[in-house]
Amino acid sequence: MAGVEEFRYFGCQLNQSEEPLCKVCLEPTANCICPECPQCGDRGKARCYKEHPLKLNALQLINRTEAKIFKMGEDLDLERQYLQHLNEQTESYCEDWSEI
Ligand SMILES: [Zn+2]
Ligand SMILES: [Zn+2]
Repeated sequence: MAGVEEFRYFGCQLNQSEEPLCKVCLEPTANCICPECPQCGDRGKARCYKEHPLKLNALQLINRTEAKIFKMGEDLDLERQYLQHLNEQTESYCEDWSEI
């Protein structure tokens, strides 16, 4: 069963990188969970939460937080890989500041 989970996990990531994400709930726009704005009828528009009386609901906040944690995890992995790479260098190692 673990294999199935894994496949689904990767499929999900693939979708996320291919489809444009909703700016508000951070889901692929096709799966957007944002409610309609009572004022303009639009969904997933950041301005509705600033200029119109729409408020973020719990589900949107959960999604946003999950997306943020996922992104931070990716960044963390990258930094760890980089650290490992640096620790594996046997000769003195320099890199331009602009590449960091
Ligand atoms: Zn949305
Ligand atoms: Zn609106």
